[in-house]
Amino acid sequence: MRVGIIGGGISGLTAAWLLDDSIGAGVDGVTLFERGHRLGGHAESVPTGDGFADLGAQHLAPKAFPTHTRLLRWLGLDEETIPSPLSVTVLSGRKPLLVTPHPELRPQPEGEEANASLRHLGTFLSRAAELENDPNAWRLPTEDVVEPLDVPDPFKQEVLYPLMASFVGCSLEQTRGLSLRAAVAFLVRNAPADPTQPPPWTNLRSGVERLATTLSGQLRNTRLRTGTEVIRVRPLEHGHEIVEGSGDTHRVDHVVFATPPWRVPDMLDERADSETTRILRRFRFVRAVVGLHRDPTYLSSARECRSTNTVTVSEPHEGARWAETSTWYRPITGDELFKSWITHQRRQPTELVAAREYHHPVPTVDHIAAQSELERVQGRSGKHFAGSWTVDVDSQESAVRSACLAVRRILPSAPRLTVLGEPARQ
Ligand SMILES: Cc1cc2nc3c(=O)[nH]c(=O)nc-3n(C[C@H](O)[C@H](O)[C@H](O)COP(=O)(O)OP(=O)(O)OC[C@H]3O[C@@H](n4cnc5c(N)ncnc54)[C@H](O)[C@@H]3O)c2cc1C
Repeated sequence: MRVGIIGGGISGLTAAWLLDDSIGAGVDGVTLFERGHRLGGHAESVPTGDGFADLGAQHLAPKAFPTHTRLLRWLGLDEETIPSPLSVTVLSGRKPLLVTPHPELRPQPEGEEANASLRHLGTFLSRAAELENDPNAWRLPTEDVVEPLDVPDPFKQEVLYPLMASFVGCSLEQTRGLSLRAAVAFLVRNAPADPTQPPPWTNLRSGVERLATTLSGQLRNTRLRTGTEVIRVRPLEHGHEIVEGSGDTHRVDHVVFATPPWRVPDMLDERADSETTRILRRFRFVRAVVGLHRDPTYLSSARECRSTNTVTVSEPHEGARWAETSTWYRPITGDELFKSWITHQRRQPTELVAAREYHHPVPTVDHIAAQSELERVQGRSGKHFAGSWTVDVDSQESAVRSACLAVRRILPSAPRLTVLGEPARQ
């Protein structure tokens, strides 16, 4: 059996790594195609003076990311993790409307307004935590939970929607239609046991891209084709023919599309794959420009209200308002550096170190329904879809999980599945 994997982000690399030691034991060959010259996709870290900073994926959590944590441990990267407890300041203009706890960084602001906003956040989080065990809450739009909540309306409009929008980089209007479970996943799943403490996220000292380089460094048998865009996947009587941009072709029995969904319809024969392409077109994404910069443009000017993450809301433009986050690296690594979503910022950073454009999935109720539909066609005629958009919410955990699910269909006995806590089937 030959396997072609299209996409060298964390999902594609994990799929290759899971199959790599089964060559000669059920697998005859694995080829991974990556259109860029760098592996890692959204796991992209750049050197910054003494250390590294993440332009893309950054925050990890053992509690919320169990499969990913097992992978880090197996690769010896758990020793690379550094604590990065997160706090959030939500600003309206220059005024802080919410400041969450971070005792190591500063005392908690006092006063009736500050206390009230924490109480309102607590009310929302308790409701969200109740719904965390309710599978139907995936199909519940966020506004159906936020609007009836017993907190003041300005808090809903100026704090709660912006907070949730900032995880996705979508507009406040779009946030109302996000799946509730998806919108609160990062708030609820890694909540601290003690609400006076910040949630215990972690970073990798040399950046999340280190996971990509470590995985690729362990590939002994996989053919890596970087700088190689796949343009077509043609059905054959048995298997598929993968066509590279150069015109070179490869015959495989299984193909794993570990790319964003909008890349896939062009590769497929739309008539033969009409059901699959219809499902893939249901997934919605937003453009996100992320910059690393040295000027504290988005940080609260009030020192006592500063947090690791500052959420700002744009003036209305293109008929919408957008919430974006700026992460302050100093409390994490000591480096006076900021990583900010700047797609909709009118004030752009002045001391830019690096910037990249990415796309975030928008986990609307329909996106979640499309994930269930996609499950139905997974594996059909040897075609598999992996990537953080295919399961749960966009994260390192879902990228790794999606790779496990693809490999479990292709080679259920793959020994490395057990390393990640997936029972291998003989
Ligand atoms: C700015 C940003 C911040 C994030 N922060 C976090 C975070 O803090 N924590 C977290 O857990 N997650 C975070 N994420 C989520 C992140 O998307 C996932 O964690 C994960 O890295 C996605 O991996 P993937 O393999 O599914 O997709 P990708 O990383 O998108 O990889 C897809 C790959 O496919 C390649 N490709 C596409 N088309 C083709 C083709 N035709 N031929 C060959 N190759 C092709 C692309 O070049 C790319 O390398 C963040 C995402 C972004 C954008």
